Amino acid sequence: MANSNDNRIRILLVDDERVQLRALADVLEMDGFAVTAFSSPADALDSLTQHKYELMLCDLVMPDLDGIALTEAALHIAPAMGCVLITGKATVPRAVDAMRAGALDFVLKPFDADALKTTLQRALAMRQLRLEKYAAEQSLRTSLDQLNQTNRDLLEAQLKVQQANEAKSRFIAGMSHELRTPLNSIVGFAHILNSSKLVTTAAQQVQFSGHILSSAKHLLTLINEILDLAKIESATQELRLEAVPLAALLEECRTMVEPMCQAREIVTEFAVDDTLVVQADLLRLKQVLLNLLSNGIKYNRRGGTLQVGVTCSGSMVRISVSDSGLGIPPELLSRLFRPFDRLGLDSSAELGSGLGLVISKHLVEQMHGEIGVFSQPDQGSTFWLQLPLAILA
Ligand code: ADP
Repeated sequence: MANSNDNRIRILLVDDERVQLRALADVLEMDGFAVTAFSSPADALDSLTQHKYELMLCDLVMPDLDGIALTEAALHIAPAMGCVLITGKATVPRAVDAMRAGALDFVLKPFDADALKTTLQRALAMRQLRLEKYAAEQSLRTSLDQLNQTNRDLLEAQLKVQQANEAKSRFIAGMSHELRTPLNSIVGFAHILNSSKLVTTAAQQVQFSGHILSSAKHLLTLINEILDLAKIESATQELRLEAVPLAALLEECRTMVEPMCQAREIVTEFAVDDTLVVQADLLRLKQVLLNLLSNGIKYNRRGGTLQVGVTCSGSMVRISVSDSGLGIPPELLSRLFRPFDRLGLDSSAELGSGLGLVISKHLVEQMHGEIGVFSQPDQGSTFWLQLPLAILA
């Protein structure tokens, strides 16, 4: 048996005739091969499961398992091994059958040492070619798989670009419409005020210039929010994530929206845990909270309630803003967080740009959080956002 430092070619020799087995083993050892010889095909197969051989040389005619069956079984265990059969003249046609079963060659008995060596060298060369062919096929298959994967990635990327383009086109169409509405109002009223033919009373002049002013303010809000969204989407401005104590921030927001609440007689109820601190960008979180709070006031009924709750679950903190307004019908919920989609409400200076929720979603996601809503028509809506707890040193 060859040891691990032995780099001779290893041959598994199988012949039920022990004298011939011994003679063959000697010849092959003399030729420089490392030979392991078995008179029993079953023992040879057993050895194959434990050791590696480059070649198997076996007798074609054996009582237990003939050479064809042995070749098949051996190649099943060691597909990379080369098999050569030993056959007498009478059984040459069966040796050809063995080659169909995977044997590389056969040697005729009685053999001479040179012919045997030549046949084995040829079998080794064929085995080497077979291995190279197999490796080339494998690498071709790998390249094909990679090519297919690249194609799939490319298609996916193409689809994403197409979807992004469509979203941009929709956004631009929406934006032109949104900008045109207040601009038309400004131009229309300015035209009336500027016309020598259209006579206006002093009261009308005050009223019309008021329209111009509110449309101009709305236009300015729109432009500011569009620019803000563009900045957030292109991620040109990195968020500054830090530990933000929630109680103080929510109290500040409450003070800021109080005048709006008073104007609509809305009662606020803030239930905030003093200890909770989230990982967020302070200014951007304030922007999101003010958006949700002002929506909770704008889309509330006069004299309604606006509740803010904070809960902690695992490593996330959930802030919810609940109003007692008209709520949102289930079929419209999927349209929330889309630019300029006011769910059928008229655009007006009082209501807003239609971009607040889109901006909020981007910001919350950039702060590694989530934003969502549940709403029941006629009972109100709860907009919630979840942010990671702050990592305190
Ligand atoms: P805006 O308030 O400026 O229109 P938002 O993006 O904040 O823009 O909101 C988009 C739309 O979602 C609003 O026009 C409104 O139809 C609906 N909406 C938002 N918040 C609420 C709420 N609390 N209750 C009912 N509808 C809401």
